[in-house]
Amino acid sequence: MSLENILGSNQKYRMTNQRQVILEEIQRVNTHPTADEVYKMVRRRLPRISLGTVYRNLEILSACGLIQKIGPISSQMRFDGITVNHYHIRCIYCGSVEDAPIDPTENLENAIREKSDYHIIGHKLEFTGICAECRKKENPFHKKA
Ligand SMILES: [Zn+2]
Ligand SMILES: [Zn+2]
Repeated sequence: MSLENILGSNQKYRMTNQRQVILEEIQRVNTHPTADEVYKMVRRRLPRISLGTVYRNLEILSACGLIQKIGPISSQMRFDGITVNHYHIRCIYCGSVEDAPIDPTENLENAIREKSDYHIIGHKLEFTGICAECRKKENPFHKKA
């Protein structure tokens, strides 16, 4: 998929080198990084980029549908390089987000279509739990109190 083809026609959203690097870094990982984490990743390749530039480009990439925002349940917005619908699991202790290993179900959308006047075009679903790392730690329920 050529990004220039997607963005080239719109002068406002031209694919700059910085934006390309940010997109590549997000697509390279499966950790659903926060903006701060994206900034750290991108700085390895573009040492002089500013956090503000990263934030701005994340918003533009998201507006173009090239990444998706996941949130805003945690205070730090996270970003995903995979834009086809899939579910997420979020750890309630460390806040890490992984892809849920199940396929999205059309039954949910059919159910809401029957009960709602909306023209349904999709849905998002997030599971919450305690990740393997946090479960290894002693008494996670008491630790965070
Ligand atoms: Zn965790
Ligand atoms: Zn994901």
